[in-house]
Amino acid sequence: MIFTEEVLEEALNIGRKYLHEGAVANYIPELAKVDPNKIAISKIEDGDLYSVGDSKVKYSIQSIVKVILYALAMKNYRVSELKRYVGVRPSAKPFNSVIELELSEKKIPVNPFINAGAIIIVAILYNVYREKTFDVILEKAGEFLGEEVDYSRKIAQSEKESSFTNRTLIYLMLAKEILPSDTKVEEVLDTYFKACSILVSTENLAHMSYVISNNGVDLKGREIITKKESEVLRALMATCGTYDYSGDFAIRVGLPAKSGVGGGIVTASRNKTGLAVYAPRLDKHGNSYSGVRMLEYLSEKLDLSIY
Ligand code: GLN
Repeated sequence: MIFTEEVLEEALNIGRKYLHEGAVANYIPELAKVDPNKIAISKIEDGDLYSVGDSKVKYSIQSIVKVILYALAMKNYRVSELKRYVGVRPSAKPFNSVIELELSEKKIPVNPFINAGAIIIVAILYNVYREKTFDVILEKAGEFLGEEVDYSRKIAQSEKESSFTNRTLIYLMLAKEILPSDTKVEEVLDTYFKACSILVSTENLAHMSYVISNNGVDLKGREIITKKESEVLRALMATCGTYDYSGDFAIRVGLPAKSGVGGGIVTASRNKTGLAVYAPRLDKHGNSYSGVRMLEYLSEKLDLSIY
């Protein structure tokens, strides 16, 4: 066992030191209501889950769901087909950047983990599953997260009411004919907001981390995604998972990871382990401030960097 209880407690203490740095997301009003002092680390090792801190507290998954959305898209299309609509290149712009769409080659979203990319993935899924799309996403999310999950109606509604930038992105993609003119804009956006509002605990995220790290197979031995799909997700997480901070994150932590503005960070490795952290105050890129520091500590202490 590499993640001893002692090391995890030490990491939590490091995280606590930074708890007042950064700020909770407030551009979605409902997100500003979370308790900013919650903090947690969960890990799965040798098939067992172990946590320190507030690991059962539920919060919204936010952008971490973009990994699940892309996984579902890969169940229906090859990456080479998806690349006609969304690239696999890192971005040097914030996750909700509008200018990025303008600047990118062919004007398609550069990757599926920025908002424009995830919205287009939802539009692609909506074409396949129609009004069942969110149910399919929720079910897949449950498989990744290790138990049945639900979403917060309040957060989804709050996202909808403050969705000016995401609306700009979808209309820009319609204007540029990346999305067909008959795209069901409201349905696609509603599905995206609900997906971002799925409630998770850090324990759930550790399970997701385990699935992606274990080549797609969950703790019960069920194949959630294929080995190849896991490889693609890990590669995208490593290069695009923490947005324009991905290069710094690679140096500081050295693990593929995906963050969300809810404060969770899910990591991935090539070991049969799972590792996730939570603390809701964010740095300016939208990544958990204490979360990054806890992972940095664990990475250095336990030699976790893959580079
Ligand atoms: N729901 C958020 C948004 O669309 C997700 C952003 C994130 O977690 N980075 O802005």
